[in-house]
Amino acid sequence: EKSGASSSKSEDSLRSPICCIMGHVDTGKTKLLDCIRGTNVQEGEAGGITQQIGATYFPAENIRERTKELKADAKLKVPGLLVIDTPGHESFTNLRSRGSGLCDIAILVVDITHGLEPQTIESLNLLKMRNTEFVVALNKIDRLYGWKVCRNAPIVKAMKQQSKDVQFEFNTRLTQIVTQFKEQGINTELYYKNKEMGKDTFSIIPTSAISGEGIPDLLLLLVQWTQKTMVDRLTYSSECTVLEVKAIEGHGTTIDVVLINGILHEGDQIIVCGMQDPIVTSIRALLTPHPMKELRIKGSYLHHKEIKAAQSIKINAQGLEHAIAGTSLYVVGPDDDVENVKEAAMEDMRSVMSRIDKS
Ligand code: GDP
Repeated sequence: EKSGASSSKSEDSLRSPICCIMGHVDTGKTKLLDCIRGTNVQEGEAGGITQQIGATYFPAENIRERTKELKADAKLKVPGLLVIDTPGHESFTNLRSRGSGLCDIAILVVDITHGLEPQTIESLNLLKMRNTEFVVALNKIDRLYGWKVCRNAPIVKAMKQQSKDVQFEFNTRLTQIVTQFKEQGINTELYYKNKEMGKDTFSIIPTSAISGEGIPDLLLLLVQWTQKTMVDRLTYSSECTVLEVKAIEGHGTTIDVVLINGILHEGDQIIVCGMQDPIVTSIRALLTPHPMKELRIKGSYLHHKEIKAAQSIKINAQGLEHAIAGTSLYVVGPDDDVENVKEAAMEDMRSVMSRIDKS
C-alpha cells in the first residue's frame, strides 16, 4: 500500500482526478453524464459546476453538497472532479498523456436488464490492458418491474423503499452480472459491501440516470477511491494533452487541451508536436468558456493569467496550425533544455503516428 507516501504528501497539492465513461451502446452513458451534471449547469453557477471544453468540472463543494446524505463529507481531499464528456472508447484510447491513459478512473456502464454486452467486454479489456481503475454503474435500475422512484437518493436508502419482489429481482440480476464479470476474470461486488475497495474487487454502484438513485454514491466513490489509491498520480507536476486543433474567428488557430497536472501560465513557453517538427511557441492566451455558455458561441471566453489542473482549456499561441491532436503539450521550465523537451515531444508524435498506421 501507498499509505506511507500519501501521509508524507501535502493534501493541498492533490489535483482533481479525471474520469471517463465507457460501456456498450444504449446502456445510458450519455444520460448518466447528463444526470451527474444535473440541472445545476442549466441553473447557472449553482454549485459551481462549470461546463468546459469537452468536460465538466465538479468542485469538491458541489460533490459535498450532493453526497451529504451519505455523511462522508470529511473525507474529501481533492479540489474537485473532472469528468470527460465524450462517452465511449475513443475518448479513452485517443486521449493519452505521456504514454499512459488520460483518465485516472473510468465508469463502466452496464444495463441491469441486459448484463454484459460485446462492447462492455471490449471496454473491460481496454481497462485491464491500461491497468485503469474503474467502477461499474449498474444502470437503469428504475426499469426493474415495480421500482419505486426515490429521486436522487443514495442507493441503500432507495433500496429500502422497494418491495420484496423488486429487491428479489435486483438481487437475481446482480448475481447473474457478478457471475458474468467473473467469467471475464474480474471480481465485482456491490460497493457498500466491498469494504476493501481494493484492486482485486471492483465496486458496483446501482444507478438510474433517469431518476438519479445511486448518483450520490457514484460521485462519492469516484472521489474517495481516486484520492485513496492514487495520491502519487494526483500530485501536481506539469502534464497536458491536446484534444483538438481548431481555427476560431478572432483567435486564429487554437488548441483545446486537458491540463492533467500542474499549472499553465500566460506567457509560458510550450512545445507541441507538429506534422513535421515540434512547434516551439508561447502561450498568448489561456481561455475557458464563460460559465453557462457553450464553447461554440464565439467570442465568449474568459482570459486567465494561470490555470491549475485538472481543467480543460483553449490555448491561443502562434504557429499552432500543424499541431497534432492526441499528443502531449510540454511546458519548458526554467531548468529545462529546449532540445530535450523537443525530443520528448517528437517521441510522442512517433507513437501517435504508429497508432494511426495500425488503424
Ligand atoms: P449511450 O448510448 O450509452 O450513451 O446511452 P444513452 O444515454 O443514449 O441512453 C440510451 C437510452 O436508454 C435512452 O433512451 C435513455 O433515455 C435510456 N436510459 C438511459 N439511462 C436510463 C436509466 O437509468 N433508466 C431508464 N429507464 N432509461 C435509461
